[in-house]
Formats: sequence, structure tokens, C-alpha cells
Amino acid sequence: MINDFLRLDPAAREKLVKDLRKKGIFDEKVLNAILQIPRELFIDQSLFDKAYDDMALPIDFKQTISQPYTVAFMTQLLELKNGDKVLEIGTGSGYQSMILSLCNVEVFTVERIPQLFNKSKALFEMLNFDIHIKLGDGSMGLPEFMPYDAILVTAGVPSIPNELVKQLKINGKLVAPVGDLKLQTMTKLIRIDEEKISISEHSKFRFVPLIGDKGWEIDDRE
Ligand code: SAM
Repeated sequence: MINDFLRLDPAAREKLVKDLRKKGIFDEKVLNAILQIPRELFIDQSLFDKAYDDMALPIDFKQTISQPYTVAFMTQLLELKNGDKVLEIGTGSGYQSMILSLCNVEVFTVERIPQLFNKSKALFEMLNFDIHIKLGDGSMGLPEFMPYDAILVTAGVPSIPNELVKQLKINGKLVAPVGDLKLQTMTKLIRIDEEKISISEHSKFRFVPLIGDKGWEIDDRE
């Protein structure tokens, strides 16, 4: 059953990877991970014909599995090295977590919606992915396992929480979509030393909001 899934439509994934290269994704680790993971695993069967369209798709609880380009772009911005310790905030379907894991890093991921947490946890176990998944408000990070080489926020934030910056190693990188509830700018932060950070801004994206203590207060989608 699992092997059947992993054999699903490799040609469509090859085409997707070719398209991602054309759109500027060059990190071979990331492209190889996208080539390996069937996106069908994370979506409803009714959406299988759209699995390799380069677009976000709905998952349960009015959340989304991000567009493959977005997943690839954010992961590439992290400049991951083998063995890095990476925190993802917003597990959702688990797709991004598995892409990270295939980039040979140790993945910690936090999800606030119990049903999504349970579903992703079960998927990681079923496919033997060694991913540490936690249920809770990730807007405060995951201090018990800090410091991290990289932090990836996969929901929109009004600003980058200081708590997250403090959980980065020196030279650690954080990538987050920062903006209002409608539109965000992909933002990369590097922790230069204890006090200093550098920030670069990239293209605009649309994410569901990060709900929590250091995110948005109201979930107007629930
Ligand atoms: N990375 C996901 C994937 O590959 O499917 C996509 C994530 S989806 C765009 C954003 C996720 O962030 C949702 O599952 C949402 O429930 C979760 N989220 C929102 N606020 C959160 C918070 N404070 N802590 C943890 N997860 C949160």
C-alpha cells in the first residue's frame, strides 16, 4: 500500500521539478526531495488530479498545503547543511516537514490543530520518517530543543517574534512570511551575533495566519 503510493506518478513529479528549476529553484537537495515525495499523500482523493499543479491546495480545518514553489523557495532560503537542527512552525499536512527531513536535517515541527497534528504524526510513523512533532502554539517556538540552525514559519505573521530569534544559533536563519492577513513578504533573518540580525525581503505570498500568543489573535477562518 505504502509502496504503491510512493510509485504514484513519478513523471508528474519530474515535470514539477523541471518547472521549479525554470522558476529559479536551484538547490539540488530541495529538488531531489520534491522528486521523491508524492503530494497525493497529503490531500483528499478528490484533488489527486491537481496534486502536481504548482498551487496551494486545501487540507482539513480550512488550512492549506503550500504551493510546491513556495515550499521549495522557503527551504532553499534556509541554506540547509547535513545534520542541521530545523524547527518548522505549522506542520499542517506534513508535506514541508517531510521535504525538510529528506534534506538530511533533524526536523522539529509544531502544529496547533489537534486533528492535523494526529494525522501528520500518523503519516510520519507510517512512512518511517523520524520527525519530532509537537502539538501546541508554535508562535513561541520550541525552547526545550533550542538552539536551531534554522526556523521556518509556514503561516503568516504580523512580525517576527523575538522569542524565535532567541532560539536560533549564531548564524542561524529564520524564514517567515511577514505582513497583514491578506498578503505577506517572504522575509529571511540571519542571527549575526547575540545582538545583531540581518534581514532580507523577497517576493509576496499569501499564507493562512499564524494564530497564537505571538501571532494573530483571532482566527477569523474557524
Ligand atoms: N507546512 C504545511 C504543509 O506543508 O502542509 C503548511 C502549513 S499551513 C499553510 C499553516 C499551518 O500552521 C496550519 O496547519 C495551521 O494550523 C498552523 N498554525 C497556525 N498557527 C499556529 C501556531 N501558533 N502554532 C503551530 N501551528 C500553527
